Amino acid sequence: MDTLVSLSKRRGFVFPSSEIYGGFSSTWDYGPLGVELKRNIKNLWWRDMVQRRDDIVGLDSAILMSPLIWQASGHITEFTDPLVDCKVCHHRFRADQLDGDRCPDCGGELTDVRRFNLMFKTFVGPVEDDASVAYLRPETAQGIFVNFFNVQQSMRRKLPFGIAQQGKAFRNEITPGNFIFRTREFEQMEMEFFVKPGTDEQWYRQWVDNRYNWYIKYGISPDHLRIREHQKEELAHYARATSDIEYTFPWGWGELEGVANRGDFDLRRHSDASNKDLSYFDDETGERILPYVIEPAVGPDRIALIFLLEAYHEEPDKDETRVVLRFHPELAPIKVAVLPLSRKLGEEAHNVHSLVRSHFMSQYDDTGSIGKRYRRQDEIGTPLCVTVDFDTLADSAVTVRDRDSMEQVRVPLDALVQKLKDMLKLGE
Ligand SMILES: [Zn+2]
Repeated sequence: MDTLVSLSKRRGFVFPSSEIYGGFSSTWDYGPLGVELKRNIKNLWWRDMVQRRDDIVGLDSAILMSPLIWQASGHITEFTDPLVDCKVCHHRFRADQLDGDRCPDCGGELTDVRRFNLMFKTFVGPVEDDASVAYLRPETAQGIFVNFFNVQQSMRRKLPFGIAQQGKAFRNEITPGNFIFRTREFEQMEMEFFVKPGTDEQWYRQWVDNRYNWYIKYGISPDHLRIREHQKEELAHYARATSDIEYTFPWGWGELEGVANRGDFDLRRHSDASNKDLSYFDDETGERILPYVIEPAVGPDRIALIFLLEAYHEEPDKDETRVVLRFHPELAPIKVAVLPLSRKLGEEAHNVHSLVRSHFMSQYDDTGSIGKRYRRQDEIGTPLCVTVDFDTLADSAVTVRDRDSMEQVRVPLDALVQKLKDMLKLGE
C-alpha cells in the first residue's frame, strides 16, 4: 500500500491535500492523472448504467437540501456511530470496532459510549441559529427519492425504471483512513431502481450479478472479489436485504459496493412526512402502488483504489525492475504516448501527435532515453506508445509498442489511427 501511495504522489495520481500546510486529516487531491482515472471510472459507470440502457435516467440534485429530508429519511436520529475516547491519550475510537474495553493504543481507560451523528452541519444565510441549520448531504440517494415524482412524470416512465446520480457526499467519519478508501468528503455513484413489489427479490439478485460482473469486465480478477450477504441483525434500518461486493484489500476483505433492497421505506417516509402522494398509478391493474427500490451504491474513489491496486505489477526486466500499471484501456489516464526517438524529429513527431490527440487522450514526451520514456509510460499505465524514428521520414510509418507484451509493430501513418482504435478496443 505504501508503494502505491508513493507512486500515486510521484506520478501525479493522488496528492495529500493541503500538503504545504502540513496536510489535512485523511483528505486527498487528485492530480492530473488521477482526475483522468476517476473521470474514466465515472464515465464508464454512466455509460453502462444510463447511456446504454432504456430503463435508467440520470439526475444531478443539490448537495444542500431541506433538513426535513434528513428528518424523514432517519438520518438525523439514526445516522450515528458509537464513539468512545481514551481518558489517558485522548485517542478516539468507534466502540463497535474495539475488541476489549481498554484503549488499544495505550491501555488506558475509555469513556462511556456516546452516539455521534455523521452528518456535517452548517448554516444557510448570515444567522447561525436553529432555523438556518442545513446539512451537507451524507448520500446522493435521498436527492433521487425526493425527485421520484418529478422524474417519473416528466419522463413518462413506467415501472421498472431507475434514476442514477453521481456526486459529492460528506460523512464526518470518526476513523477515516486507508488512503482514499474512507474519507470524509467523497464521491458517490448511486442508482435507485424502482420496481413493483413482488418483483423486488428477482431484481435485487439481478443487480448484485450485474454489478459484480462490471468489475470483472474492466479487469478485476474474480479471485479478488466476493459477494457477502448481510445477516439479519446487520441490516441497516431501511433495508430488507443487502449484499456487499467485497474486494481483497491489502488489509483484508472490505466493502467495495453495496446492493440493497430498500423496499418502500424511502418513498413511504417521504410521502408521510411531506404529505405528497408519491405512489405510482399502475395502468395494468388500475391500482396505486408504492414502488420498492433496489439500490447499487458505490464510490469512484474506492473504485479508483481497487483499479490501482489491481493494475500494479513489478516484474524483473534485465537488471532492473519494471513497474507497470496494467489498466484496462478504458481506465488508463493516457491512452497513447507519442515519443520522438530524437529531438531532431520534433516537427514530424508533433504532426503525429496532432493526428492522434483528436481521437485519444495522449501525451508527448521527448525527454530522456527512449527506454526511460517507455518505463515512465508503463508506470502510469499507458497502453500504447507510438515512436517516431529516422525511418519515419523515409517510409511514413511509425512503431507502435504494446505495454503488456512489449511487442512492437510498424504501422503506416495513414493507417495509424485505425490501428490504435483496433488495439485499444474502446467503447466495447
Ligand atoms: Zn489511550
